Amino acid sequence: MEKCSIDTDILVVGAGISGISTALEAAETGFTVTLIEKNPYIGGRVAQLNQYFPKLCPPTCGLEINIRRLRDNPRITLYTLSEVKTISGDAGNYNVNVKVNPRYVNNKCTNCGDCATACTVERSNDFNFGMDKTKAIYLPYNNCYPMKYVLDKKLCSREELNLIIDSCKYNAIDLNEEEKELNISAKAIVWASGWDPYDAKKLETLGYGKLQGVITNMMLERLASPSGPTGGKIQIPGSDKPIEKVAFVQCAGSRDENHLEYCSSVCCMASLKQAQYIREQIPETEIHVFYIDIRSPGPLEDFYSKMQNDSKVFFHRGKVAKVMQDPDSNQLIVEADDTMNAVLKQYTVDLVVLATGMQPTKSRNGFPDKSILDENGFIRTDVDKTIIGCGVCTGPKEVSSVVQESTGAAMKAIHIVKGGN
Ligand SMILES: Cc1cc2nc3c(=O)[nH]c(=O)nc-3n(C[C@H](O)[C@H](O)[C@H](O)COP(=O)(O)OP(=O)(O)OC[C@H]3O[C@@H](n4cnc5c(N)ncnc54)[C@H](O)[C@@H]3O)c2cc1C
Repeated sequence: MEKCSIDTDILVVGAGISGISTALEAAETGFTVTLIEKNPYIGGRVAQLNQYFPKLCPPTCGLEINIRRLRDNPRITLYTLSEVKTISGDAGNYNVNVKVNPRYVNNKCTNCGDCATACTVERSNDFNFGMDKTKAIYLPYNNCYPMKYVLDKKLCSREELNLIIDSCKYNAIDLNEEEKELNISAKAIVWASGWDPYDAKKLETLGYGKLQGVITNMMLERLASPSGPTGGKIQIPGSDKPIEKVAFVQCAGSRDENHLEYCSSVCCMASLKQAQYIREQIPETEIHVFYIDIRSPGPLEDFYSKMQNDSKVFFHRGKVAKVMQDPDSNQLIVEADDTMNAVLKQYTVDLVVLATGMQPTKSRNGFPDKSILDENGFIRTDVDKTIIGCGVCTGPKEVSSVVQESTGAAMKAIHIVKGGN
């Protein structure tokens, strides 16, 4: 196995919007940064969004500028397909062992796509939450960075691999690429590993994974995206049935002691944004939002008012207890407490969107100091001289707060690098 030693001022773990912003702030101030990302691309969950509030621009807007800054900055070294194995030492003097997995595609790749055309093996597309498939050699998403294919070699037979190699006229497939080990000496570490959507299968009464037409809010982001599994057409996955009524189930598993006891703070705004996607694309559709209370901080209140004034958007105060299927019509039935009138009501809809919350990412391999995690697994930010948490791995929040926190994380890291107390 190839081994490599690196000296860096700051190691940033995770290249979502928080890790990228921290890396840029620190590097543009003059410090060296090593940025490691477990996926074959950077951008994290923001890359999966269709549009993001408050401006409702596509994520490529913000990411593209940051990617250009990152590419042009010689003080940042990026490793994708990489994960921390172990960390030892303390603030000012860390030793970090990182595993870099092979991509099997080298820098000669021009993204012509001939390899994917030739390849006959398919894999479930995790970027689109399994709603479609990619070939075993694939580009993670349009406009991804690095803009290079990646090969899932273990899925392929020797004959398949030969087919893929023969299809590439640029010699960009490198089956001899090996796993690498990086030994990194870093003065400060910023941990920006982000979040995973809460597993909707755990919400047993809400039908996810059992009833066609029950999806999650992140699946809707991909369905609405022009680069998503349906080219941006919002539809029931696997069905052409027209959508006339949609239910948004707020707090699906959030503020619930059996699931996530906290509020993820963005789900209300995400659902209102998604209601707008649907209203714009299928104007005759009725939207029913079931909520405990709507949380729309600061300028997002205007957005909420706009949706309240839409004659086809209905707000129902009450928690959804059950989602069922009508055996005759196959339509979905949402059963909810109407807490304004103290009655249990049923509503028939075609699509149910579960507004599931954000939980700290599970892949926190190598994280050495569990004592700085709170009771929900988020990294505490009130502890000095230790690994610095940043972004949603310190608590749920939207992008503008994440970016502000990243500036703070870069400052804290620089303070450690400069030997401050
Ligand atoms: C349905 C929904 C819609 C939303 N819409 C909006 C919106 O419109 N506007 C808005 O402002 N916010 C929105 N948000 C919130 C937004 O997605 C988050 O604020 C943002 O993703 C936080 O970025 P992050 O970098 O902290 O985490 P992430 O985006 O999760 O990035 C973390 C990165 O770290 C990597 N990583 C994880 N573990 C490791 C490891 N061990 N080693 C190396 N790398 C690792 C991950 O692969 C990932 O690339 C929405 C959230 C939801 C649920």
